[in-house]
Amino acid sequence: MKEDKLIEFFLVLMFPLDITQTINEQIGLYPGDPPFKQEFHLKLPQNEVNLSSISMGVHTGTHVDVPFHFFETGKKITDIPLSKFQGMSLVIEMVESPVGEGISSHHLEQYDIKPNDIILIKTKNSLFPSIVSEHKELFLTKNGAEFLIEKKIKAIGIDCLSIGDSNIHKLLLKKEIFIYESLDLHKIVPNRYLFFGFPLKLEGAEGAPVRAVLFQPLEDTSKVSLNL
Ligand SMILES: [Zn+2]
Repeated sequence: MKEDKLIEFFLVLMFPLDITQTINEQIGLYPGDPPFKQEFHLKLPQNEVNLSSISMGVHTGTHVDVPFHFFETGKKITDIPLSKFQGMSLVIEMVESPVGEGISSHHLEQYDIKPNDIILIKTKNSLFPSIVSEHKELFLTKNGAEFLIEKKIKAIGIDCLSIGDSNIHKLLLKKEIFIYESLDLHKIVPNRYLFFGFPLKLEGAEGAPVRAVLFQPLEDTSKVSLNL
């Protein structure tokens, strides 16, 4: 790679946009999920260090669902190469759609969805980032899921606690389309971005917490000077 191309590439990677929810005791939970707890076992200044432990469900906050979540012999987090958790993403905005209707092919067909795209859906939930906890969000319909499967997308993400009911999860996971849930997209303008959503390397897990980030397309960062 030529040096100027390399600098351009690093320039893109210098401005990560965090689309991960902060995990704390107030975080919204899917009904029935275990609560998040953080406990300090050692504390400064009484001890030499601060040292805490956490307890949480793997579907708490921004996380990814993989096939073992719904299929006994499905792939687990540690069966999947990292390359499956990164790629070109398209953020689409559905903030106008009424809650309860569901996202169908007629909402999706206006977008230029390419094979291998990671589709990130920004819903009304992003207008109220502090109340993602409420389970009244938008969801993907069967028809919407089938449309995206036909488009051969790589993964899907949404700013809700769940992408939809178990049938929707099964449709997508059967095709090894991994599902990111509880993304924080409230600051993100619909566009194409480079996406990284690497899960914690939890052996045998059906899902895992993720630090999800987007990187701006180069046009938007190229004005920034780089002092190397
Ligand atoms: Zn999940």
